[in-house]
Amino acid sequence: MKRPFLSVLLAVLLSSTSGVTAADERPRLALVIDDLGWNLRAGERVLALPGAITVAVLPGTPVGSELARRAHTHGIEIMLHQPMAAETGVAPGTGYLQPRMAPAELTHRLRTNLEEIPYHRGVSNHMGSLATRCENTMAVVMSELAERGLYFLDSRTTHRSVAYSSARDALIPAIRRDVFIDNILDTQAIERALEAAVSLAEERGHAVAIGHPHAVTLAVLETKLPEIMDRVELVPVSALVAEPTLTATRKQSERSATAAMPIRDTVAP
Ligand SMILES: [Zn+2]
Repeated sequence: MKRPFLSVLLAVLLSSTSGVTAADERPRLALVIDDLGWNLRAGERVLALPGAITVAVLPGTPVGSELARRAHTHGIEIMLHQPMAAETGVAPGTGYLQPRMAPAELTHRLRTNLEEIPYHRGVSNHMGSLATRCENTMAVVMSELAERGLYFLDSRTTHRSVAYSSARDALIPAIRRDVFIDNILDTQAIERALEAAVSLAEERGHAVAIGHPHAVTLAVLETKLPEIMDRVELVPVSALVAEPTLTATRKQSERSATAAMPIRDTVAP
């Protein structure tokens, strides 16, 4: 029974620092839909989902910049979904980052992609099981994000990712993905993964889930999100990365709570 203790601890921390009331302690879930940019119709369906979701948009895609503009008009938070090299050698996509590249090339590619996807508040990695293991590559990325005041979401496509610690070293707001909801493209499996994300948020106070614009994923979300919002508050990623109290409490429970969560490189549909 960790939750009552954590709630009390959080209440003490919050009341001593900001005077936030008990009503603000509702568990919070950030739901990110990745890999947007290939299909306008699927993208529009994502933008029509209920609640405050966040979208991660791929550069070099036919409708990525257009979807970012439409998301902005809907008041939906936008991230650049930065392609990064994977261990498998699969091509990660336009403007990808690769550890062999010189720092100037890495920075140039990142800047070009950031310019392409408007209204971004942060960056997440697309694939990247190779690149996110490289401290030098991540340091170049985080340095650029620090200058621009952007946050980083580590999609955690490898257990060996150093992206999150690199972001913290660069003093930029950062958080890690807890659950991929659609590793298995099956209605029941997606419902179970979504439930795992909600339960984690209820236990720990917050969680980050990532899904993709597959028809089966969107069908589950259209049905389940209204029910889920009775239990957790859906918030944009920026709301979670901004809170130092969450950063402090996260360290205690994160390893045990998420060690069993599956890891993978996500691929474009
Ligand atoms: Zn991706």
